[in-house]
Amino acid sequence: MDEHIDEEQLESALLRRCTPDQMTEIQAHLAECALCSQRAEKLREYIDHLRAAIIAEEIDKGSTSNSST
Ligand SMILES: [Zn+2]
Repeated sequence: MDEHIDEEQLESALLRRCTPDQMTEIQAHLAECALCSQRAEKLREYIDHLRAAIIAEEIDKGSTSNSST
């Protein structure tokens, strides 16, 4: 495999939206390609960040609608 993984594929792998076959391919590529594993690392940080922001927003909504004590 000498093609790099595109952003969409990386994203779906990180979000576990791809098939197990694709996951295996992507992981195999990441193991051999420093460039793509760096991209995956950055993308994962970004996704974690987004996820944390979404969770924080939900907690915030929950607490504001519940804070009538
Ligand atoms: Zn690559």
